[in-house]
Amino acid sequence: MKNDNKTITPLNTIPVFYRPEMVAANVGAYSPSAAKPAQAVADWQRQGLPIEVLEFPPVTEAQLKAAHHEFYVDRVMHGLIANGFGNTDAQVTASLPYTSGSMLAAARAALASGAVACAPCSGFHHAGYAEGGGYCTFNGLMITALALKAEGLVKKVAILDLDQHFGDGTQDIMGQLKLSTWVKHLGVGPMEKQADEAERYLKRLPELVDGLKAYDLLLYQAGADAHINDPLGGWMTSDQLRRRDRIVFAAAKRIGLPVAWNLAGGYQRDADGGIEPVLAIHRETMRACAQVYLERQPR
Ligand SMILES: [Zn+2]
Repeated sequence: MKNDNKTITPLNTIPVFYRPEMVAANVGAYSPSAAKPAQAVADWQRQGLPIEVLEFPPVTEAQLKAAHHEFYVDRVMHGLIANGFGNTDAQVTASLPYTSGSMLAAARAALASGAVACAPCSGFHHAGYAEGGGYCTFNGLMITALALKAEGLVKKVAILDLDQHFGDGTQDIMGQLKLSTWVKHLGVGPMEKQADEAERYLKRLPELVDGLKAYDLLLYQAGADAHINDPLGGWMTSDQLRRRDRIVFAAAKRIGLPVAWNLAGGYQRDADGGIEPVLAIHRETMRACAQVYLERQPR
């Protein structure tokens, strides 16, 4: 359970739970998310951001089945039905226990330090109880919440989903398994998600996080597709996204709420078809994270 006196272990680096097994390259999907973990981590290292890359175990079949219908898990893992990318690519299948494992490991680390940790992956929040979609196959957010609850490590978990898109899969699992007594799912409504509402939203955001004092853990989806130039987005400028992330981290730190964050969506491309515009947003999230949590500041 969360430390009552809210002690935060000082961090020298931001823990990042990455291993190559998380990556499925060349999936040929519109979404670059299956290959993104490696690119994001390499980018942070290239930029000299103060991260520490750590190993972790994949989630178990039982942990997957605590959040999803067992037939759905079995069929996906045996390549009998399409994953969230709409295919049965074996590389994607193999990566799934690792992407959720990264989120679970980041959450464990955040609980242990009282501070923060990162899962450099995507592909969770559209995955419902018995179906995937929108590049999401298994819901690593719910898998994490349920695994930690079962182990008695948390009583209440909050999910702040600031991806451009609504976490319909998260909502579905919460409904199917009746989890709303201990899981809070916060997103942004369509009426708020307008460029001319962004400043108003950012003003309210600290208060929104402050309202989570009673929770043991925050799972934060720092979606890059909320960017105003995103083809599937967006409503915030680069500067507003930077402030968004800083506000979330600073407010959570202030109230002693441990944060595990992930990359979530982002679909911008540069002229060569690369994802530099998306990496640039994730880079700023990591920089904001380091600025809030580390004693020694990154440049
Ligand atoms: Zn999205």
